[in-house]
Amino acid sequence: MNARLISSIGGKSSRSGELLAQKLKAEGIVNTQVLQAIARSPRHIFVPEILAHKAYDNTALPIGQGQTISQPYIVAKMSELLIADGIPDSILEIGTGSGYQTSILAQLTEKVFSVERIKSLQWQAKRKLRSIDLHNIAMKHGDGWQGWSSKGPFQAIIVTAAAVSVPQALLEQLTDGGRLVIPVGGQTQILKIITRAGNEYIEKQIEAVKFVPLVPGDLL
Ligand code: SAH
Repeated sequence: MNARLISSIGGKSSRSGELLAQKLKAEGIVNTQVLQAIARSPRHIFVPEILAHKAYDNTALPIGQGQTISQPYIVAKMSELLIADGIPDSILEIGTGSGYQTSILAQLTEKVFSVERIKSLQWQAKRKLRSIDLHNIAMKHGDGWQGWSSKGPFQAIIVTAAAVSVPQALLEQLTDGGRLVIPVGGQTQILKIITRAGNEYIEKQIEAVKFVPLVPGDLL
């Protein structure tokens, strides 16, 4: 996987990507695979052209349709939490958005399944991920509250929008020992890791976060 991406962007990480990875390391990201993926991922292609000069800042940015590309620190933090117990065979991502988080996950595991409710965002993300030769990603235009049961169960699930409560379908689609990384809340949100142990779910709170909402219902 890495080799494909590297060859597509000139055989090495970019200077901007490397600087961003260094910044995130200074802010407490320790996983070297995650830092390497950040260094190699061309974030500028995932932001609107007019904001390209801010692409390697450690900030969230608007991507249209009222949505945002997540802050690099939180992308790295959630990725690192997701693989802390070992590399999962596959990852389910809810909220494809720009596809930037997807590009990081695709460098960390064999296969990424990503669900997005806004068709136009999904379509753009798909094109961008192909353009950098990441082909180990399957996408679904669907409601993330339902997960993607036919592809599960998953050792790792990441949700990149805030849910008012933890979606039951996602808990059910975890393998025994699997982990779900999810921001939960409304105005105030907290990032949680939920680990499945048989029919029990062990919850750990990580830190306060700010995400767009995981919208219930209709697709766009
Ligand atoms: N990881 C993305 C974050 C995008 S913002 C990035 O860094 O670009 C969150 C995304 O979740 C938005 O694209 C939004 O459309 C999507 N989303 C919100 N509710 C959803 C739902 N119920 N099902 C699927 N996707 C949803």
